[in-house]
Amino acid sequence: MKIKSIYSVAWDAPEARGFFGKVPVEPKTKPRRPSWIESGPVANPVTRYPRYSAYRPLWTPTWGDFIVVAEAEDGTKGFAFANHGKPVAAMVDEYFGLRLAGENAMAIEKCYDMMVRMCAPFGATGIASYAVSGIDLALWDLKGKLLDRPVYELLGGPSKDELFCYSTGGDTDWYMELGFKATKLPCPFAMADGLDGLKKNVELVAKTREMVGDGVELMLDCWMAFDTEYAVRLAEELRPYKLKWMEECLRSEDFDAHAQLRQRAPWQTLATGEHWFTTYPFQHAASRHIVDILQPDIQWVGGLTPIVKICAIAEATSMTVIPHGGGNTPYGQHACYALPVIPWTECFVPTPPGVPPSEAPRLPGMAMPKNGRMIPSDAPGFGIDMDVGKLPRFFR
Ligand SMILES: [Mg+2]
Repeated sequence: MKIKSIYSVAWDAPEARGFFGKVPVEPKTKPRRPSWIESGPVANPVTRYPRYSAYRPLWTPTWGDFIVVAEAEDGTKGFAFANHGKPVAAMVDEYFGLRLAGENAMAIEKCYDMMVRMCAPFGATGIASYAVSGIDLALWDLKGKLLDRPVYELLGGPSKDELFCYSTGGDTDWYMELGFKATKLPCPFAMADGLDGLKKNVELVAKTREMVGDGVELMLDCWMAFDTEYAVRLAEELRPYKLKWMEECLRSEDFDAHAQLRQRAPWQTLATGEHWFTTYPFQHAASRHIVDILQPDIQWVGGLTPIVKICAIAEATSMTVIPHGGGNTPYGQHACYALPVIPWTECFVPTPPGVPPSEAPRLPGMAMPKNGRMIPSDAPGFGIDMDVGKLPRFFR
């Protein structure tokens, strides 16, 4: 079976309303208080500039999401959600899609390799990697549909009975009520907030540890906001609160800083990788052991194909992989279910305190965590029940 065409469609068309967790709908239950998301701040690389420091959405891209469709000669359609709309959809429709048409629809390794090599003139990281990811995931979905099997079976089948999910966000009391046994806080302050910010970071972690007790794992997400010195200092102050890991303390490109942090805080488990693209940075980090836990994002790193390779790197270097946002997409759920080196699945809780997550809009057919546990859909492909044939092309 050959690939007939690969192209982008718009998910935010009226035909798609309610498909994805970003279409606002009025929940039935009234929230007890607004979500942490609405009350910032969250430390980030731009925190030093007051004009943009209050919230990440003040400066992060607004291109939005879209859907990549991979259509086979017989009309079967695989599809996947992709990020960063216009520039990424242009790469899908005007570059990779045209060059992959006519290839064997089952030859995903070949298609991935072709795409990464065709990135050579402009680089395979960043925006290009979002396009490669969307196409790779659409091809996996297509293969599952052609073979009538869920993607996790194409990877070898389940490696665990269910997924152990951890929550991410600042409404810790709410996540405990929902039954999570591990939770990750966003770090609010960075260097520009001075000693006062450092003290507030420590107070937040101390207060949260007291709330959850010693029977719950606690992590801290630092979203590339620190330099080495600040990360070491904060890690030292937080040592009494037994963090399971500190995440993404440094700018993703600065490998020397990662090596320094490893050396200066040898006792602190370090996790990173959501802003690393392709397999190379993971191989670099694993071979030098500059972090402990690799966190590729399946929609950003290049898709499921490189995730499998990164898991092999981790196996061979006694490391752990916990994909970024793994529980929030069917793609991450299938990878976490099938690959033994992945012990945990990250879940961003989509509702404010008091509103059951089942009331949030979501992809039809996608699993949701219950009591901090989850089993992915066993429907063919990634199991998302949507007729993408009804959606308009992204570039109309
Ligand atoms: Mg993170």
